[in-house]
Amino acid sequence: MNNRNKYLLAIDQGTTSSRAILFDHQGRAVTIAQRAFQQHFPQPGWVEHDPNEIWYSQSIVVREAMEKADVTERHVACLGLANQRETTIVWDRETGFPIYNAIVWQDRRTAYFCERLKADGHADLIRRKTGLIPDAYFSATKIRWILDHVKGARQRAERGELCFGTVDTWLIWKLTRGERFLTDVTNASRTLLYNIHTGQWDDELLDLFGVPRSMMPEVRGCSEVYGETSSPALGRGIPIAGMAGDQQAALFGQLCVECGMLKTTYGTGCFMILNTGETPITSANNLLTTIAWKLGDRVTYALEGSVFVGGAAIQWLRDGLGLIPNAPASERLALSVDDNGGVYFVPALTGLGAPHWDQYARGTIVGLTRGTTAAHLARAALEGIAYQVRDVLAAMENDLNVRPRELRADGGAVANNFLMQFQADICRLPVVRPRVLETTALGAAYLAGLAVGYWKDLDDLREQWQVDQVFKPKMNDAEAARLLAGWEKAVSRALDWAE
Ligand code: ADP
Repeated sequence: MNNRNKYLLAIDQGTTSSRAILFDHQGRAVTIAQRAFQQHFPQPGWVEHDPNEIWYSQSIVVREAMEKADVTERHVACLGLANQRETTIVWDRETGFPIYNAIVWQDRRTAYFCERLKADGHADLIRRKTGLIPDAYFSATKIRWILDHVKGARQRAERGELCFGTVDTWLIWKLTRGERFLTDVTNASRTLLYNIHTGQWDDELLDLFGVPRSMMPEVRGCSEVYGETSSPALGRGIPIAGMAGDQQAALFGQLCVECGMLKTTYGTGCFMILNTGETPITSANNLLTTIAWKLGDRVTYALEGSVFVGGAAIQWLRDGLGLIPNAPASERLALSVDDNGGVYFVPALTGLGAPHWDQYARGTIVGLTRGTTAAHLARAALEGIAYQVRDVLAAMENDLNVRPRELRADGGAVANNFLMQFQADICRLPVVRPRVLETTALGAAYLAGLAVGYWKDLDDLREQWQVDQVFKPKMNDAEAARLLAGWEKAVSRALDWAE
């Protein structure tokens, strides 16, 4: 069968659901299957997944996506994988059984240890080697916690009996029935254990976190054949050929393949990532330095910044205030007034992320008058999302010293045209919404397809990548500057609020 007539299977293993998408040679999503799985909250601040349920839900959706298209593994050219990052799994090398649940990236149980690392002056070393900050978010302290709290785990790890993996590593292990134990540079770069300059697991960091080297998977590039599927559930013989953490996969799926190109994902939070080319840039503005991908021998770096509350601000209007029946209604309501009426909403409902990094900041609404209506609040909430993204963008521009030409957008909230237009107005940049919004899965598919020659090269991909709509700045400069000044004043009122 001609390769061009085959499909490309992308796995997008996310935080709340597992998805599988079959793409055709034009990069169109032919079938999609999705399945949510259980979130476990054993204690306040703890978040866990059952690794077997991750695997199980993922294999079911792969089957479903193939059945919907009426194809078998013979019709699949290769498989690409994108995954929730940092989430940590430790399993027995012999039996393949996890020794504890997956500790999810959101889990804060190891925050105390990170505070201690900072107090002991290790932050600089960590930043220099990994591009990250000591935070519970990343994998290393989660591995340490498992080794310290599961009976006998540390001794078993030291005897070489245990494997550590992020979700990519776990899935590839399962897909190949334990034959392949590997990860890729993007997932490795989120562990706090990987030196992003030397491209190696770092002994000094492994020591600092108390993680035996024998647990660590081999680190590979993002676009190469790692092995073949050999699982009863999924079929045999599909080359596994691409992998990346979800944000990096989305950057690739948005074809932000040149230095200075960036994408923002507008979901629950907003995730921004900027391609900085072959140089890792150390941020002077509290952004993370990370690896975008490795193609062949070439490593591309990125700067990353996250806004904690993006679309979640709209959920709060809906569920917390009962102001709107559903998220799309926020657009109609916002457009029913001419402007924000002087109202600013800083959606710091869970503190502020980059570039402010203030966990004590809280949600703040300022500028209320007798004339304020629900519509002004809805408008202020949508504008608040855009201002936060603009703040991260400004930090990125500052670090890279380059003005991006446009901002590529994806995620659930990009359906909101008001938000997209306001984003363009306040950033003074065109905002581009692509036709295929499944950019994470598309990126994984692109990486895999390039590895097996399903697509020839980046130009081949550029030919098929299509824009849905471009939002150009319409507001005049003076008005944008006036609004921004109001926002900055509002942020100053939100900072350092909680005790
Ligand atoms: P996640 O992957 O984080 O679950 P999604 O990419 O599915 O998020 O996007 C869902 C988020 O987008 C929700 O927070 C929702 O409030 C917001 N959202 C969805 N549609 C709209 C809309 N039309 N206007 C504004 N926000 C929206």
